[in-house]
Amino acid sequence: MSSNTVQQFDISIVGGGMVGAAIALSLSQAGLQVALIEKQAPAEFDSASAPDLRVSSINLASEAWLTKLGAWQLLQQMRLCPYQRLQAFEHPASIVTFDAAEVKNSHLGHIVENNVLQLALWQQFTAKVTRFCPASVSALSQTSDNALLTLDSGEQLRSALVIAADGGNSQLRQLAGIGTSGWQYQQACLVALVNTPYPQQDVTWQQFTPTGPKAFLPLPGQQGNIVWYDNAPTVKHLATLKPEQLTRELLKAFPEQLGEVKVVSSSWFPLARMDVNRYFAGRVVLAGDAAHTINPLAGQGVNLGFADAKLLTELIISAHQQQQDIGNETLLSGYQRKRKPANLLMMSTMDGFYQLFGNDIAPLRKLRQLALTLASRSGALKKLVTHYAVGIK
Ligand SMILES: Cc1cc2nc3c(=O)[nH]c(=O)nc-3n(C[C@H](O)[C@H](O)[C@H](O)COP(=O)(O)OP(=O)(O)OC[C@H]3O[C@@H](n4cnc5c(N)ncnc54)[C@H](O)[C@@H]3O)c2cc1C
Repeated sequence: MSSNTVQQFDISIVGGGMVGAAIALSLSQAGLQVALIEKQAPAEFDSASAPDLRVSSINLASEAWLTKLGAWQLLQQMRLCPYQRLQAFEHPASIVTFDAAEVKNSHLGHIVENNVLQLALWQQFTAKVTRFCPASVSALSQTSDNALLTLDSGEQLRSALVIAADGGNSQLRQLAGIGTSGWQYQQACLVALVNTPYPQQDVTWQQFTPTGPKAFLPLPGQQGNIVWYDNAPTVKHLATLKPEQLTRELLKAFPEQLGEVKVVSSSWFPLARMDVNRYFAGRVVLAGDAAHTINPLAGQGVNLGFADAKLLTELIISAHQQQQDIGNETLLSGYQRKRKPANLLMMSTMDGFYQLFGNDIAPLRKLRQLALTLASRSGALKKLVTHYAVGIK
């Protein structure tokens, strides 16, 4: 195709990560013509490969939607790990356990590798999704009834709506002139893939310490993913260690139930909170990390992104079926009105946890002991927290 021909789509999505790919799949299944622009395609799945370091805890609400889209079934054929129990504690002697039985379900959630979930979504695409990959956007212009994207290849795509799902450093957000607020947390987190001495585990746990939480997420077989929050210089230092050295540090710092693990690989991530001033500008609308980044403390980031994606696609599909303009302001305002407060509430709740559990100030130490005791003794409170964690409210 000539690079100066303008190609027409119902919708263009920039970013084909977990959130953008789910949106593309959902809209294409409803008959919309979708353009998906992505910098890098997900790698093919290799069952013999080591699990990726970037994993997410996927809650029941997200699982239900991904099942409806047909991607969950593919993911199950590749690799994922269910967990039945979620534990939180300061001291291993006083563990609070949240159990799948509290929500009358076989599991509370799954740990999945981000790139495997992304691949499962991509594998479901039909001809209704035109992929531009590897590609990125060099310019955006808008009129009152459409938006025009110019790709770095020179190709131009016109559509009634552009969805920016290009992650926390969204370029589209900047091109659309949408401002952000937020901060970089003083802590960072080290993530490590470990081999464990135990058979596949059904529990994910988090220990709160004054220097930050230490978490274990189970993976298929005798493997797990470790998340170690600490101040940024410490985390950066840990990330420079060889696997054998890091193993020694882990065994010193983590509670006993980790077992005699061995580190396979590791990496580190900065932690930032970011919220956008508005969720849309003209015919560009944001979803997932492009709209909000949250402390990963309770593994909610992509679950919030899927909740954005589900609502946004429902509104668009409904407008499309009624032959309305799918980029109309009323639709986009309705999306913002529902998702912005919900996302902010979760971000602030996580910050409350972060403040309450991430320091050694005596009154707060007492308060968190009280919170954990209450959580373990009150059946109703426990049930409420469990419902919140799995995305059923
Ligand atoms: C350490 C850590 C642990 C986490 N754990 C959890 C967890 O347990 N549970 C959970 O729900 N969340 C978790 N999160 C958060 C989760 O990873 C993010 O919320 C999620 O990845 C967001 O998905 P997304 O599709 O919106 O963005 P991304 O995953 O950032 O995807 C963006 C996509 O856009 C593409 N892209 C970027 N720029 C361009 C461009 N200019 N042009 C074209 N394509 C572009 C990228 O290549 C990528 O494919 C964690 C995050 C971290 C850092």
